[in-house]
Amino acid sequence: MNKKIVLLPGDGIGVEVIESAKQVLEAISDEFNHTFSFETHAIGGAAIDEYGTPLPDETDQACQKADAVLLGAVGGPKWDQNPSHLRPEKGLLGIRKSLGLFANLRPIQGFENLLHASPLKHEVVKDSDLLIVRELTGGLYFGTPSERRNNGQSVVDTLAYDREEIERIVEKAFQAASIRRKQLTSVDKANVLESSKLWREIVEEKKADYPDVQVEHMLVDAAAMKLITNPAYFDVIVTENMFGDILSDEASVLTGSLGMLPSASLREDGFGLYEPVHGSAPDIAGQGLANPLAMILSTALMLRHSLHLEHEANVVEAAVQEVLDNKYHTGDLNIRGGHKVGTEKMTQLVVDCI
Ligand code: ATP
Ligand code: MG
Repeated sequence: MNKKIVLLPGDGIGVEVIESAKQVLEAISDEFNHTFSFETHAIGGAAIDEYGTPLPDETDQACQKADAVLLGAVGGPKWDQNPSHLRPEKGLLGIRKSLGLFANLRPIQGFENLLHASPLKHEVVKDSDLLIVRELTGGLYFGTPSERRNNGQSVVDTLAYDREEIERIVEKAFQAASIRRKQLTSVDKANVLESSKLWREIVEEKKADYPDVQVEHMLVDAAAMKLITNPAYFDVIVTENMFGDILSDEASVLTGSLGMLPSASLREDGFGLYEPVHGSAPDIAGQGLANPLAMILSTALMLRHSLHLEHEANVVEAAVQEVLDNKYHTGDLNIRGGHKVGTEKMTQLVVDCI
């Protein structure tokens, strides 16, 4: 199989973990006789420095032509004072929108040897295995904020959704639930928000197409609490953009580190962009300390969802599991004992297992 993969390292540790992803994919192509061709393009702060824009046209076009896209991370203090159109994050929002990536899948799974790195009790986190399905192209992130009024003292953000936008994300979530434990929790704030009321209606309508999936509605505040008091309760959570962002960072404590969480951003046809949930981590950038596992697990999601290489995806995930079973971990995981390693060594260990 010959596949074109675009690599967007971005900023900070994004550059380091993209290299890990590439090495892992090279190991997979050697082992299984695939040809992956890689093309690297600029995005985020790095693109601002080189091209004066966070999303250069050539990056956008290369992504449009690719079979899948891997992204490291964008942003950093160097660009924090930039005007809003020159923020690195604009590149990320821009590419998601331009590629039509509306479904963000964030699987959260507790790895046995890492559970002690979580501040939550072992009994609480031990059986947690959930998937957050976050809507990615609507809501507050894309509503144009009003001009400042009232001498700059008033401003309005808009949370807007169309029926089709809700239908397609809810459909994705039902599909995901139907091949997992068949339990779907739709998270909203329907006691306050009109958008949540429409969201609930649509979830109720879709239920008929998936009679074997159990559906429940939960208010976001209750869901936030339950996520840390009883995470094992959840199978698939589906929710709008901002709620999904907040809940998935919260859920990262289950795994002990942001450095363990992969994500997939998908279009209807299965095309996708894959990136770790964490950001560019400027505090440790360039030091070889970054945990590459979130990025490596993101490549497994890419193999599965965009390249339809389920076995290869399982091999990558099993390799990560084996390295953790052998008690290797990076410094972001607060674990006593075992072997503490850096980015390169961790990557090599995974490659060796493959
Ligand atoms: P963003 O605004 O881009 O979402 P953030 O403020 O959420 O970023 P991150 O950069 O994601 O912050 O991470 C917060 C901190 O967690 C980092 O500063 C770093 O110390 C740690 N961290 C995150 N990801 C990793 C990783 N892969 N390896 C090691 N440490 C990490
Ligand atoms: Mg963040």
